Amino acid sequence: MSFSSQNFAPEIVKALSECGYEKLTPVQQKAIPFARKGHDILANAQTGTGKTAAFSLPIVQQLLDKPKTKNNHQARALILAPTRELAAQIAQSIQDYIKYTSLSVAAIYGGVKMSSQVNKLEKGVDVLVATPGRLIEHLEENNVSLANLEFLVFDEADRMLDMGFISSIETIMAGVSTQPQTMLFSATFSPQMNKLAGEILKQPKRVSVAKENVTADTIAHVVYPVDQERKHEMLSELIGRKNWKQVLVFVNYKETANMLLKELKLDGIKAVLCHGDKAQSARRRALDEFKEGKARVMIATDVAARGLDIKDLPHVVNFDMPFLAEDYVHRIGRTGRAGQKGHAVSFVNRDEELTLQQVEQLIGHTIRRVEQAGYEPKNRDALIQKMHSKPAFKNRKTRTNNPSDTDQGSAEKRARLRNMIKNRAAGSKK
Ligand code: AMP
Repeated sequence: MSFSSQNFAPEIVKALSECGYEKLTPVQQKAIPFARKGHDILANAQTGTGKTAAFSLPIVQQLLDKPKTKNNHQARALILAPTRELAAQIAQSIQDYIKYTSLSVAAIYGGVKMSSQVNKLEKGVDVLVATPGRLIEHLEENNVSLANLEFLVFDEADRMLDMGFISSIETIMAGVSTQPQTMLFSATFSPQMNKLAGEILKQPKRVSVAKENVTADTIAHVVYPVDQERKHEMLSELIGRKNWKQVLVFVNYKETANMLLKELKLDGIKAVLCHGDKAQSARRRALDEFKEGKARVMIATDVAARGLDIKDLPHVVNFDMPFLAEDYVHRIGRTGRAGQKGHAVSFVNRDEELTLQQVEQLIGHTIRRVEQAGYEPKNRDALIQKMHSKPAFKNRKTRTNNPSDTDQGSAEKRARLRNMIKNRAAGSKK
């Protein structure tokens, strides 16, 4: 199904073709016709499915169909997103779609000065993309009004709830007196989500594509059982041996991210960080370096990496298994996109086996297990023995969980790894 057959304005069709969009993705095929008719939508779709265009194109077309002069401080459409990165990304996509029209879009989110955003809001804006907290600040200062809101979207609604935005959402909704056409997009559904959907949507049309995407043939899932303390070594080894060029690595804690950055550096692998302690500008710079191939690895925590659009990403690594099985789905949504082959690689220690089971239940199939030679997890007896054997614990610099390995042996190993990584990278550039 092509965009030109969808009765979109020629300005939009032209912009979409410049974006390289030819055919509608499944979520677009399902959601766009309903949304164009003005229905509320409840969509089960994750990042990477083309959901941004699925909710924004029908809005943009309807805004063009009913042109209005802008009222100061007012927005006709509001898109709420959980993170700054996602808000910026949605606004950028919409800017790409409307560049041949007279419509306007603005993004407002925390981490940047309020004053720089006030100017954008002053003359009114057609489409406003916002994170809930910053939107409330602007509403309180009367920098923006939702008095005439016609369209409302909740993107990645599950993450907004996970991040505790429910009371912010209630505050925002209390200020909406019109009955906007409302769309809610979420990768997962919980009782709390169903309650929210029940409160804000009127007879919604249901659209679902998440399952197809998760089990997409284009994603090869693989699990490496490994002891926790060997994970960073194994990551360097896999990156080097398999010559992975662009790897997004998920960790559960900022501390792990910082540690891993240092370890990869020692192995000669350039990595950047994307976690909550980093300023907005630093995160953006890291993302740019990663996208441009200046950094081979981006180490990210779930919240910071939420919704990031990184095209054609070949490898996603779960260095830590996520706490929630649903987050596995979010994380690997960055790979295998738009028909590209992707690899979802998970490092699983003994304690993470339970999460792995839950993930397998969620995605509906078991994941192939590969034991990497030299990294086979120690059996339980050996672990207990090791916990009681002082030498291994006394020497904290020891890089492996084999007490007989000396620092000297480790340094040699690391030097060998560095050389291998350098040679392979050089070889592939030729
Ligand atoms: P999203 O799920 O909205 O984050 O979109 C994922 C990626 O797919 C983005 O890079 C979009 O630009 C791209 N995309 C969205 N719709 C299409 C389409 N119909 N054809 C090709 N690429 C698309």
